[in-house]
Amino acid sequence: MADEEKPGMSATERFKRRKAAEASPKPTVAIVKVEPMILPEPPEEPIAKHTEPVAVSEPKFDIASGPKRTYLLAPNKILTTKCKEVDKIDDKIISLAHDMEDFLKNPPPLEVKPIGFAAPQMGMSVRIISCMLNPMAIELADKDIISIVNPRFVYIKKVHLVTETCLSLPGREYKIKRGKIVKIKGMLLDGTPRTFKGHDIVAQMFQHELDHLDGILLNSPGRG
Ligand SMILES: [Zn+2]
Repeated sequence: MADEEKPGMSATERFKRRKAAEASPKPTVAIVKVEPMILPEPPEEPIAKHTEPVAVSEPKFDIASGPKRTYLLAPNKILTTKCKEVDKIDDKIISLAHDMEDFLKNPPPLEVKPIGFAAPQMGMSVRIISCMLNPMAIELADKDIISIVNPRFVYIKKVHLVTETCLSLPGREYKIKRGKIVKIKGMLLDGTPRTFKGHDIVAQMFQHELDHLDGILLNSPGRG
């Protein structure tokens, strides 16, 4: 404001100010250094596609007994419904997660030992999974079984064909493409954000359980 020409200014003063203005550097566009955005690594191949089931006998029942609570068998609408995000980790959520962890620690007699479990399998349509992080351990430590709230993929890599089963589809096996290396992020039960990287069977389990949260089962039609 101070350098503007003002009414009543003498012609000489006005001339001087114009010359000074011409001599001064022209305004330039500010250059702001932008840090590159760190994007998640893209999957090397599209996310898995299911193939036809190996066996196709529909179960005659729709619920099975677990040690503490029941878990659902397909067909059941909750299993094919996309689960809601957890917006608050309250006592109800923590209790559900503990029940899911207990289920993994003390599973009912099953043909295949479960290494992951998703909340909709307990009839709760919320985004929580419980997982064994070290399923090959001979003796499991408490820290090897954890629950992850609102898990999301960071990346899926090295897609290959595997055979997979699901507690909710007993007695059946499916050939399916899964990433061999997977990174996911989510929250622990105390709200701490965490990322988890899984290889092989753990990567497969993460993908299987996250599919459950999206209402996708191994026999879901048109998947991929
Ligand atoms: Zn399953």
